[in-house]
Amino acid sequence: MAKAHNLGFPRIGANRELKKAQEAYWKGRISKEELIETGVMLRKNNWTIQSGLDWVPVGDFSFYDHVLDMSFTLGNIPSRAQKAGGDLFDQFFRVARGRSPVDGTSEGVAAGEMTKWFDTNYHYIVPEFSEETHFSPDVTRLIEQIDEARAAGVSAKPVLLGPVSYLRLGKEKGNIDKLALLDSLLKAYEVILGALEEKNVEWVQIDEPVLVMDLEEEWKEAFRKAYAALSGLKIKKMAACYFGTLGDNLDLALSLPIDAIHVDAVRGRSEVQKVIEKLPAGMELSLGVIDGRNIWKTDLTALLEWLEPIADKLGDRLWLAPSCSLLHVPVDLSLEKSMDSEILSWLAFAVQKLDELVVLAGAVNKGREAAEAKLEANRLALESRRTSSRVNIPEVKARAAAATPDMGRRKSPYAERAALQENILGLPLFPTTTIGSYPQTAEIRSVRRKFKKGEIDEKTYTERIRAEVRNVVAVQEELGLDVLVHGEPERNDMVEYFGEQLEGYVFSGNGWVQSYGSRCVKPPILFGDIRRPKPMTIDWITYAQSLTDKPMKGMLTGPVTILNWSFVRDDQPRSETCLQLALAVRDEVLDLEKAGIKVIQIDEAALREGLPLRKADWKEYLDWAVGSFRITANGVEDKTQIHTHMCYSEFNDIIESIAEMDTDVITIETSRSDMELLDVFDKFAYPNEIGPGVYDIHSPNVPKTEYMIDLMQKAAKRIPKRRLWVNPDCGLKTRDWPETKASLKNMVEAAHRLRETA
Ligand code: GLN
Ligand code: ZN
Repeated sequence: MAKAHNLGFPRIGANRELKKAQEAYWKGRISKEELIETGVMLRKNNWTIQSGLDWVPVGDFSFYDHVLDMSFTLGNIPSRAQKAGGDLFDQFFRVARGRSPVDGTSEGVAAGEMTKWFDTNYHYIVPEFSEETHFSPDVTRLIEQIDEARAAGVSAKPVLLGPVSYLRLGKEKGNIDKLALLDSLLKAYEVILGALEEKNVEWVQIDEPVLVMDLEEEWKEAFRKAYAALSGLKIKKMAACYFGTLGDNLDLALSLPIDAIHVDAVRGRSEVQKVIEKLPAGMELSLGVIDGRNIWKTDLTALLEWLEPIADKLGDRLWLAPSCSLLHVPVDLSLEKSMDSEILSWLAFAVQKLDELVVLAGAVNKGREAAEAKLEANRLALESRRTSSRVNIPEVKARAAAATPDMGRRKSPYAERAALQENILGLPLFPTTTIGSYPQTAEIRSVRRKFKKGEIDEKTYTERIRAEVRNVVAVQEELGLDVLVHGEPERNDMVEYFGEQLEGYVFSGNGWVQSYGSRCVKPPILFGDIRRPKPMTIDWITYAQSLTDKPMKGMLTGPVTILNWSFVRDDQPRSETCLQLALAVRDEVLDLEKAGIKVIQIDEAALREGLPLRKADWKEYLDWAVGSFRITANGVEDKTQIHTHMCYSEFNDIIESIAEMDTDVITIETSRSDMELLDVFDKFAYPNEIGPGVYDIHSPNVPKTEYMIDLMQKAAKRIPKRRLWVNPDCGLKTRDWPETKASLKNMVEAAHRLRETA
C-alpha cells in the first residue's frame, strides 16, 4: 500500500488569522497567551484538514519563519537578541523583526537578515554563524506540537530543516568557515533526533532542499558525514528534496544512510525512473506528484497512468505527496465566492490539493474504480480547461509564433541613439530622475479602494487621481528634477495593475500566500493567452505630460516581472507565456511613443528572481527572458529613450545579459553597498547609461548631499560621467512626503554640485 503524506501546510490560516494575531501582538493589542492560543487553534485546524493522510507534518507551523524556528530549536540565537532580556519568545521576535513588544520604546536590535527561500517568494531569516556560535538544542516546541497532533488524532511526522541545508543556507559573520561548525551542529541534531526517538516518533522528515542545487565537493562530503553521524539513531529518517531534480547529486542522495527519500516528481519528473532504478533495496521513495508551487488541478488520470506501474514495482515502499510544502499556495479555494466560476473549476489550493492526494492514493491502493466518480469530475474539469476558448486564442498564439528576434533590435546602436536623444531631451550632465512611485498616502489608497468597491464613480476617481498626479508633478518641478514621473497613484501593485487590464488573468479574493512574517501576497493567476484589449497607461501618462515641459516617463512593468510574480499556467512553456506578455506590453510601449512620450521605463524588478536554481539552466532562462524584454522595449524609434529598473543588488553575475537588453538607461540598487556593486564595471565595460541608486528608499533616513556626491564620484571612477544618472534606488511609495521631499532636495543639490565640478 502506498502511503499518503504531506510535507508542510500553510500556516497563515484560511483567513490570515496568523497575520492578524501577529500584528495585534506586536502592537500590544493582544497578549502573548492569546497569540499562542491562535497558534494552537491554527495547528489543530490544519491537522483536521490533513486527517485523511497517513502521515501529517508537525513543526511546519511557525510564528514567523520555520528556518528561524530551526535556529531556536538548535539554540543558535544571536547574542544581541539574548542580551536584550525577555524570554525566548521575545528573543525570537527580536531576531525576526528587530524588536519584541517588551522592548517598548527602546531601539531594539538589528533584525536577522532575510532572504528568498530558493526560487519561491517566501523569505526566511538567515541563520547566523560567527566565532561565538554554539548550539544548545531545545526540543520543547517540537515535543509540545507532537502531543497536540497526537491529541488531534493524526500520525505525527516531525519536520526539521536538515543539518547540511541549515548550514548551507546560513551566513558567516566575521572570519569563520561555517563548515567547521558541522561537528557541533551534528551533535545538536543527534540530541533532537534522540528526543524524538524517546517520544516514540516513527518517522522524521529531514528537509535537505540544497540537494537540488549545485554543490561543491566539500558540501557533498558534509552530506556523507552528517548522515553517517546520525545513522546510529533508530528513528526512521526521510530526507526531503524539492524544487528541482537531484541531477548530479542523485547518487550522493541515494548513498546516504536514510530510510526514505522524497523527490520532486513535478519539476523532477524526468528523473524519477532513474531514481527508482538506483533506489537501494532498503530505502522507501516518496514521490511529490501534486504541484506544491502552483494552483492548477492535477490531471489525476494521466498521473495514474504513469504512477500505477511504479506503484506495482515499489509496493509498500511508495509514498505519495505534494512536490514540496504547501506553504507556497493559498489555503482553501472553497472560500472564493466571487471568482469566475469557469476558471475556479480548474484550480486547487492547499486543501484541494490534499483532497487530490487522497483520491490518488485511494486509486493506487484500491484501484481506479474505487475513485471513479472523483476521477471523472477531475477529467471533466481538465477537459474544460484544455478546450476553453479563453485559454487558447489562436490569434494570440499566431502572433507569438510570428515574433522574430528582429522585433527586439533597436534601429541603431546606442551611441547613435544617445546623440539623437541628447538633442531632443536636452538633459544636463548627471540628469536626475526618480523610479516611478511617490508616497502612497492613506488618502490615495482609500480613493482606489472606494472606486473598486463602486463607492465613487469613474469621473470622481479620475479627478482624484489626476489631482495627485498634479501634486506629484508640481513637487518634482519645484525640486528641479530633470525627467519626471506621474507617481503611480492609480497602482496598488506593479503587477496587479497590468494583470487586471490584460485578458488571460484572473484574481482570487482570498488567495494569500505568506511572503515573510506577517506579510502575505495574493499573486494574480495567469490562466490563458494574453491579450491587451486596450491601452493601459496612456491616459494617465499623457495627462501627466500635459502638465509639464520636462520629459515625463511612461511607466510600465516588464514581461518577465509580470510572469515571475504571478501563478502561471502550466500547459505551455513559461517562455511562451512570457513572449505573449512581451507582445502585449510592447503594444503599450508603441502607443506611448505614438502619444508623444519621449522616455519610457519598463521595470524588470523580478528578472533576477526567476534565475533557475542550477547554473547550467541559467543561459536558457536568460535567453528567453532577455529576448522577451527586448521585444517589449526595442520596437521604438531611435529618438525614444528606454529605461529599465531593477531593484536587486547582485547583478554582477548576469551583467552581460543585462547589457544585452540594450536599454538606453538602467537604474539599479547600489546605495546599500557603498557602490561596491559597481566593481563589476572594472571588468565589464557596460556600454549604455546607468543610474546607480544614490540612496536607500527602504530607510526613513534623509541622505546627506555630501554622501550622495561621494557615492556618485565612486561611480564616476568606473563609468564615464556622461553616462551617469542620479536617482534613488527604488520607488518611493512606502515613504512619507516630508522625508521624500527632503531627500530629493538633497539629491538634486548633489547633482548640481557634481555638474559644477565636472
Ligand atoms: N516603478 C516602480 C515603483 O517605483 C518600481 C518598483 C520596484 O522596482 N519594485 O514603485
Ligand atoms: Zn525597485
